[in-house]
Amino acid sequence: MKLTQAMTYKWLQLFVQDIQKNQAHLNELDTAIGDGDHGTNMVRGMEQVSKILSQSQDQKVSDLLKQVAFALISKVGGASGPLYGTAFLEMSKYLQNQDDDLASVINAGALGIKRRGQVNGGEKTMYDIWQPVAADLQQQQFNQANLDSHLQATLNLEATKGRASYLGERSQGHLDPGAQSSTILFTDLLQVLN
Ligand code: ADP
Ligand code: MG
Ligand code: MG
Repeated sequence: MKLTQAMTYKWLQLFVQDIQKNQAHLNELDTAIGDGDHGTNMVRGMEQVSKILSQSQDQKVSDLLKQVAFALISKVGGASGPLYGTAFLEMSKYLQNQDDDLASVINAGALGIKRRGQVNGGEKTMYDIWQPVAADLQQQQFNQANLDSHLQATLNLEATKGRASYLGERSQGHLDPGAQSSTILFTDLLQVLN
């Protein structure tokens, strides 16, 4: 499957809307195991992404994703800004230098998070969504049920990266805010694919 320009614009528009809708929920998740700002951080980034989307409807996908990456890096802040920013930058680079295969593009984003966050699977972060989603796409098993089960699988993990790791075992039983926002991102991708 290819990541087209029309899909990408639609996907990012949904992401802006759904992050705004879920701002309070993302803050609540982050209040339990972090500092309570993940929704606020992401919404700040989405305001900039919204501007980028309204400026032009006709950018090359790699150029659009690069602009989104810079918006996320400069506006979201916290730990998640540079991580999402790196993911979008690596997706942009993959499209520019390789091809537009959706699974490979998402995999490039996941690898960006892994490298930038020095993170592996099972550390209760956004990477626990990106990595299995990339694998599902590669195996043609990307669907809502699998996506939901990847998020659920993070619930009882102990966080070993980011602020939530300060809680140690007490992070178990809480959803990771970045895993939740990434689940929103990929729920939106599914909506565009369907
Ligand atoms: P901060 O923790 O600086 O307040 P946010 O609240 O916006 O930043 O983002 C927190 C999210 O960032 C976490 O829920 C987690 O998913 C993600 N995160 C933090 N550190 C890492 C890391 N090293 N690797 C991958 N993801 C991380
Ligand atoms: Mg936070
Ligand atoms: Mg913070």
